[in-house]
Parts: sequence; C-alpha cells; structure tokens
Amino acid sequence: MVNKKDCIFCNILKGKVPCTKIYEDEKTFSFLDINPVVKGHTLVIPKKHYETMDQMDKETANAVISTTQKIGKAILKFNEGYNVNQNNNSAAGQLVPHVHYHVIPRNKGDKLKFTWENLKLKDEEFNSLKQKIIKLLK
Ligand code: 5GP
Ligand code: ZN
Repeated sequence: MVNKKDCIFCNILKGKVPCTKIYEDEKTFSFLDINPVVKGHTLVIPKKHYETMDQMDKETANAVISTTQKIGKAILKFNEGYNVNQNNNSAAGQLVPHVHYHVIPRNKGDKLKFTWENLKLKDEEFNSLKQKIIKLLK
C-alpha cells in the first residue's frame, strides 16, 4: 500500500511533478509516458487514487475506460492500431501503484513484441478453472 503523498501520479495530478498533459476531465487525466515504448505512448489515470483496477468504483472505472477510448481514437488517426495495457500488482509488472492504462500506438513492422507463450490445457483443466472463477465472482 503506497501513501497517496508518495504516489508519483498523485503528485503529477497535484502539479508537483511535471508531465506532458494530453487531456483531463472531472474524473480522469491523461499524459505521455516518460519512458515510451513507442512515440505516442500515452497513460490514462483516474484522479482518485486506487492501486488496482478492480478497486475502482464503477463511475471512475467507466470514466477511465471512456477516456482511454478517446485517446485510442486519436492515436488511431496517425497509427494503424493500438494496444491497451493495464498492469495490476507487481507480479503483473505494475511499477506505479496508481491505476493506469497504457495506450500504445502500433504499426505494421514495429518491433514491439508480446513474449507470452500459450499453454495447452485439457478439458478438465478448463472446466475446473471455469468453476473456480465463477464461484469467485460472487
Ligand atoms: P507500469 O509498469 O506500472 O504499468 O507502468 C508505469 C509507467 O509509468 C511506465 O511506463 C513509466 O515509464 C511511467 N512513468 C513512471 N513515472 C513517470 C513519471 O514521472 N512521468 C510519466 N509521464 N510517466 C511515468
Ligand atoms: Zn496516486
């Protein structure tokens, strides 16, 4: 758990840390990533400090998705595609513990790679995973 006072993105929101601002509305804020993986790599964050996306209240979650969509539409006007990437907790590669959506421009022939490998699962494994997750939805 990171104190809001020590959160780099909260400090950007307060204007204490500079950023290249792209967009802002009542609930969300968007700015360029300081270490972009490609030109135009943009971040979208809620103004309220939440660490992971599952913690956000519905209104905030909807607002963040809506802003991410808006940024995606703009990115698509000068790129062929884009990825939306969102990491939750350090095990998933989250470095900044304030919810953020990466909007990453993509173009044919760019050198970006997802290095994940796919598993081959048996039917019983799919079924037991299905049961486990459905049970946990409640
Ligand atoms: P994560 O790994 O948590 O999903 O990604 C955090 C992202 O925040 C990284 O891509 C990193 O470059 C970006 N970032 C970290 N600190 C700052 C900052 O002070 N300003 C900006 N604009 N981006 C930051
Ligand atoms: Zn924060």
